[in-house]
Amino acid sequence: MSKRDYYEILGVSKDASKDEIKKAYRKLARKYHPDVNKEEDAADKFKEAKEAYEVLGNEQKRAQYDQFGHAGTQGGQGGFGAGGGAGGFGGFEDIFDMFFGGGGRTRDPNAPQKGQDLQYTMELDFEEAVFGKETAIHIPKEETCDTCEGSGAKPGTNVNTCSHCQGTGQLNETQDTPFGRVVNRRACHYCSGTGKQVEQKCSTCGGKGSVRKRKKIEINIPAGIDDGQQIRVSGEGNPGENGGPPGDLFVVIRVRSHEFFERDGDDILCEMPITYAQAALGDEVEVPTVHGKVKFKIPSGTQTGTHFRLKGKGVPNVHGYGQGDQHILVKVMVPKQLNDRQKELLRELHEMESDETLDEHHDNLFQRMKRAFKGDS
Ligand SMILES: [Zn+2]
Ligand SMILES: [Zn+2]
Repeated sequence: MSKRDYYEILGVSKDASKDEIKKAYRKLARKYHPDVNKEEDAADKFKEAKEAYEVLGNEQKRAQYDQFGHAGTQGGQGGFGAGGGAGGFGGFEDIFDMFFGGGGRTRDPNAPQKGQDLQYTMELDFEEAVFGKETAIHIPKEETCDTCEGSGAKPGTNVNTCSHCQGTGQLNETQDTPFGRVVNRRACHYCSGTGKQVEQKCSTCGGKGSVRKRKKIEINIPAGIDDGQQIRVSGEGNPGENGGPPGDLFVVIRVRSHEFFERDGDDILCEMPITYAQAALGDEVEVPTVHGKVKFKIPSGTQTGTHFRLKGKGVPNVHGYGQGDQHILVKVMVPKQLNDRQKELLRELHEMESDETLDEHHDNLFQRMKRAFKGDS
């Protein structure tokens, strides 16, 4: 029964800024998203974080939570008096209901209500995320029934006010308890809380007013989008009730990892394996970038672990603020297998490198260490 504190769930302080809350939520959402995290409790943790963010991320809900705790967030069907007005939070009765666990709907069933938001997860290849693309998805969603235009009634028949609840969608239930008489409000079960009774149900939708359809939705993925980001498609959620606006569709982006590129914000990281000879002598090589191959000069004497930057060869910023770079991390590869000729050359090289006369030119730490290991420093 005991619910964890929303601030604790997100791991932020009570006076955290909106930004801090958003960041904390995103971090958790990424970590526990059921598409990514297959651990058993990931889905619950994801849900918990989402619920916490839905409250703390909204100024009005956060204020109510700060004042009333969890009770302040459990108005009716999770409806914070959507649309305000008669269903608004704050009336004495509403609070009363919450503490006595009425669970009944306190909002006016006839008030316009926004439709439910939908979420869709889309996987993209690394390059698709870099360059963006126009695509379309097919999703099952509730659409207003064409036959009855959402009323749920067979065309030509009447929709009447529910006689049991007089159209309020709620019934009062009186209960005698040791503390006195308690009035509970519950959703009217004759009309399922809608306040309306249909003479004859629409045969297309069975009286629901909506039908489930697969709908094709065009989605424009902006160049530079990154893993975990969302695209909001306005108005493509489920239809609203009583003339309310439809919800929105949120497309959550998952980017598949690349064989050798890695994203770091707008920059791309890439390791470049080179041979000992290339590192020592320098070389001109072709480096793969998402924008095609780029000629690059490795300077002679390049050390393993050296970073090079290819300016502008990264990812375009998703908000249009410039373009990232590609970073190359040099890795000098030591061969594991050698043929006889290679062995011969390397031995020769080794003998030359052992020659102390070379050391006079660059008496660096490496050379001093070499001498120390030979015991003649
Ligand atoms: Zn219908
Ligand atoms: Zn009713």
